Amino acid sequence: MKKLLLATALAVGFTSAMADYPDKPINLVVPFAAGGPTDKVARDLAESMRKPMNGQSIVIENVGGAGGTLGAAKVAKAKNDGYTLLLAHIGMSTAPALYRSLPYKTLEDFEYVGMVNEVPMTLIGRPTLPANNFAELKAWMEANKGKINLANAGLGAASHLCGLLFQQAMGIDMTTVPYKGTAPAMTDLIGGQVDIMCDQTTNTTGHIESGKVKAFAVTTPKRLSTPALAKLPTLDELGLKGFNVSIWHGVYAPKGTPKPVLDKVNEALRVALKDPEFQKRQEALGAVLVTDARLGGAEHKKFVEAEINKWGPAIKAAGQYAD
Ligand code: ASP
Repeated sequence: MKKLLLATALAVGFTSAMADYPDKPINLVVPFAAGGPTDKVARDLAESMRKPMNGQSIVIENVGGAGGTLGAAKVAKAKNDGYTLLLAHIGMSTAPALYRSLPYKTLEDFEYVGMVNEVPMTLIGRPTLPANNFAELKAWMEANKGKINLANAGLGAASHLCGLLFQQAMGIDMTTVPYKGTAPAMTDLIGGQVDIMCDQTTNTTGHIESGKVKAFAVTTPKRLSTPALAKLPTLDELGLKGFNVSIWHGVYAPKGTPKPVLDKVNEALRVALKDPEFQKRQEALGAVLVTDARLGGAEHKKFVEAEINKWGPAIKAAGQYAD
């Protein structure tokens, strides 16, 4: 009897705590450096989710390193009370093939809240590169084999995946220089310490517009409509037939986070995606917001599983691994 009363009391306490959720700030882990493309998505989203999350702040914690796997591991092990969430990207689906011992199970250790957006990538170069279009870049690469530095955000980052496919398509090996995110990589690219990089438009658009970097192509099969990027050719039309890398972001919680909490976060995500301010800011950076069933956790999880099956074989074939 005593046990039953205790269980009932706990359940009631738990339910009322959930009813108030959230009643304090939430920690949103971004597994890359501050100021980069995923960070930009996260900060915009946090702003628009604040109101539907009872006005509570969503505080960004940047945990960069190892292509996003350090931040994801931190959330997988965090308390599952809804106050630690993860905003991650395509790396959720490439890391399982890249790491021999990933410190979490992608499909088992998280609750899938929903998908946020899809973001194209651009091939960019340092401003001092002696090439002003893709043909000139290609000629420069041919002449500089063995000396080309390609920046990325570590194994498992989108810049890694895109750079890997680019090297394969070009048949040229490059020296990769990993960073904790493409924000610090961008600083070095602008400063001329590295030669080229594949990066998401949520980071590159402003730098392309201001002429701080040279832009050669987009990685999607179709040209983009974003004004600052519309002139860029696709890698496919430049001869790298079938080249297609577009990344996505999703929101996750530690396994076992209560359903009412997940529902509340998902509802706030849906409200944010309808916020005209969020839509305007994201569209200006080339991002396309999700409007289909992947906005829901179950469909997003199915999508991530399909992505794991899509990218795994290509990565394994390239023979890229880390411990
Ligand atoms: N999204 C990463 C970042 O925010 C970079 C990457 O995936 O390549 O830095």
